[in-house]
Amino acid sequence: MNLKDSLTDHFRILPAQQKALKKINLETIQDLLYHFPTRYGDTAEVSAIADLKKGDQAVIFGTISGLKTSKAFRKKIPMAEGSVDDATGKIKIIWFHQAYLAKMIGEGSNVRVEGKVSETRPTERQKSFGQGNGQLYFSNPKVETAPDLFTQSKTHSLYPIYPETRGVTSNWIYHKIQNIMSRGILDSLVDPLPKDILETYHLPDLRTALIYIHTPQKEEHAEIARKRFAFEEIFFIQLERQQMRHEFKKQKAFVIDKKLQDLKPFIENFPFKPTQGQIKAIKQNLDDFKRGHPMTRLLEGDVGSGKTAIAAATTYAVTTSRPKGQDFGTLQTAYMAPTEILAKQHFESFIKYFSKLPINIALITGSGCRKFPSKVNPGGWTDISRTQLLKWVANGEISVVIGTHALIQKSVKFKHLALVIVDEQHRFGVKQRMALLRRNDTEKTQNNTEKDNRSDLIYKDLSYIIRGTLFDIKKNLGLGHKEQIYQKAFEEELNKRRIVFNREKQIPIIYNRKKIGVYQPDFIIDEKIIVEFKALPFIGTRKTKQLWTYLKGSEYKLAFLVNFGNELEIKRVIYDKARISASSQRESVSIPHLLSMTATPIPRTLALTLYGDLDLTLLDEMPAGRKKIITEIIIPERRESAYRDIKTELEAGRQLYVICPRINEPDPDKEITVQAKSVTEEAKRLKKEVFPEYEIGILHSKMKPTEKEAVMLDFQNKKIDILVATSVVEVGVNVENASLIIIEGAERFGLAQLHQLRGRVLRGTHQPYCFVFADTKSDKTVRRLDALKTAKNGFELAEFDLKERGAGALAGGKQWGVSDVGMEAIKNLKMVEAARFEATKIIESDTDLENFPTLKEKLQERTIKIHFE
Ligand code: ADP
Ligand code: MG
Repeated sequence: MNLKDSLTDHFRILPAQQKALKKINLETIQDLLYHFPTRYGDTAEVSAIADLKKGDQAVIFGTISGLKTSKAFRKKIPMAEGSVDDATGKIKIIWFHQAYLAKMIGEGSNVRVEGKVSETRPTERQKSFGQGNGQLYFSNPKVETAPDLFTQSKTHSLYPIYPETRGVTSNWIYHKIQNIMSRGILDSLVDPLPKDILETYHLPDLRTALIYIHTPQKEEHAEIARKRFAFEEIFFIQLERQQMRHEFKKQKAFVIDKKLQDLKPFIENFPFKPTQGQIKAIKQNLDDFKRGHPMTRLLEGDVGSGKTAIAAATTYAVTTSRPKGQDFGTLQTAYMAPTEILAKQHFESFIKYFSKLPINIALITGSGCRKFPSKVNPGGWTDISRTQLLKWVANGEISVVIGTHALIQKSVKFKHLALVIVDEQHRFGVKQRMALLRRNDTEKTQNNTEKDNRSDLIYKDLSYIIRGTLFDIKKNLGLGHKEQIYQKAFEEELNKRRIVFNREKQIPIIYNRKKIGVYQPDFIIDEKIIVEFKALPFIGTRKTKQLWTYLKGSEYKLAFLVNFGNELEIKRVIYDKARISASSQRESVSIPHLLSMTATPIPRTLALTLYGDLDLTLLDEMPAGRKKIITEIIIPERRESAYRDIKTELEAGRQLYVICPRINEPDPDKEITVQAKSVTEEAKRLKKEVFPEYEIGILHSKMKPTEKEAVMLDFQNKKIDILVATSVVEVGVNVENASLIIIEGAERFGLAQLHQLRGRVLRGTHQPYCFVFADTKSDKTVRRLDALKTAKNGFELAEFDLKERGAGALAGGKQWGVSDVGMEAIKNLKMVEAARFEATKIIESDTDLENFPTLKEKLQERTIKIHFE
């Protein structure tokens, strides 16, 4: 047995189980070993059946028998029953509506039952015999087949409970893990963490930690093991980030030699006096600019703290600098925003900031391009074609380009891109950040560029043809054939379409620069795209990874993994050497400086981890004279009077946002649908019952971009007084007159998120109000929400969230690619700092990890995994 072996190699796994396993990302032996319990049950909590009383919330262990399903005779409800006995007695179990649960348990197996003890009403007969009590039973309890270990030999009292999914129970997982561990695989494990680190921080080695986490003898075992794995995860994230940082800092960057003094005329032109924090942030950027290596800085500041002005001043320093050895032209800046509306807004504010300077500013979004200044419309902008924009950006005539994702398309090439600004950087991945940093095209000739574009196109066309062909084959042949049949059909189709292909070509597999084997792809189309066929129930990430590895050893960049399984599934796998090792290939090219900006308040520990590759600037000061939002926590009774207060403000001409509560749905599609519905309904209710005299608009993610934009414009132009929206949808526009916000179901949000939501009313000159509607009166909730009234800024609230509710409260730990165990470390500043310190030490002495082969291998594995998830 090997760690990398697929589970199917060693266990008989039913198709349904296989699907379930895929869903929770368990494919290999290693995956399973790293599937940690979410908690531990304690057999010490177990009650004896004889001691149970009505109303108890209890756990029992015993043997189950007498399982049968039936219909409750009166109401025709499907139900099932059985009984459990231990050494002291016997108790009945009844499932209503969930008869299938009984079918999942084997007659006579050992079970753990957890639930509430109920009692039947005593029958007349029982009463007449003087018995006041009915019969005790468990109604819809949680029943798990319990590992026999715990019911028979009580070697330890803690048993693991694993995250499960329909089709794979905790118990199944438990037994598989026990089986794996009993086969001696633990002895063959190599601990990726260096020994001295384990010793310094008193962490158990891998073998011990795995035993401790899956079969702890006592609470502390589980704890120390989790601590180790939490450290391990953060350590690897740090290694990765520090490696990136190191690589990045080695690069050459444009030296921009400007002093704060040089920026004075620009800053003095601001329509306000900058805060100390803003000046400090600008100065930090200027300092970084002088080093000859690229800046990588993250500017964290609350909504409204004035980050745009910092971005503008920093851009000014760039646009007033000449390319090296030139006495004409300027260095260029790219400014990327997450939405079209924000990009347009930045474009407008930059026009104001830069109107007196002789530079061109452009906007590029999915729906078109603009340029300022305009020849035909002095003082304003004009629409230009994309082609025109690309040309002017490539020849350096445009100094500042603002845009959405459209900015990172390959076709956008710069002449002297010296600064990249990314707004709301959490919305962009590391990959996208990197993509934008590799856009200078100084080496390539114009011809080369054209050729590149053409080959891009051929790929696109070819991909399109391949897909079409595959769907034709599916239509003609249907599913259920062997993979060879599909290959033959594909060959036929390719011949018919006169597309060149190769079925013989061998790709060497390189290891340590040695050829250790070959791989022969099913097809290589037109010497460009590899196509690999499968006919499996499903294809897991293992196959994709494999293909990725093959690409890595080849000259090809693109592969299709085609599976004629339950459905036709086509996966694209890309390995772009040019992108991954662009740094080494083009060492002579200067890399732009990077300024990321975010208003998402996250705790320091998380920032250190996620943004380990960046330097942090914290902007924790608000412009003076800014009105403070008056925040009120509204319990249900006070709703009416709050509505009255709001009406007074509406009558005075103000506008109102209503944010509908967060809805937790595991399925994102479903969540969007449910949200859309709740927004629509709330808008109807408000119109009918509360604000009949006002215009109400809605905004949710099911709407088309053009619809959204129209609504936001109406709100901005006060055609709409009240905007009902979901918490996820970015309102985007800055509506100064909207000084009121209601947040419904506030107890379902983290404080930091509430803080961010209310930031929307901070923009105007009117006194802003935030009404935090809680559906509960619980003291604890109200007290928690009260922090919104006292906290100085969002970061304080984020820390508060972390302390009060744990890492889970930080909206979507998963979205950051940190596991539950890893998030535990986030609570622990010391641990995060230690992981960072150790990782930095290693990377500084040995960037490529040549002396740490196990670390290196594990790090690569992680990168591949993240690449695909
Ligand atoms: P954010 O940090 O959320 O991006 P913005 O840059 O959009 O904030 O600034 C919000 C508003 O505050 C803008 O209208 C801007 O003009 C204004 N502003 C920025 N800095 C100051 C300041 N020092 N004094 C007064 N107003 C400021
Ligand atoms: Mg902003």
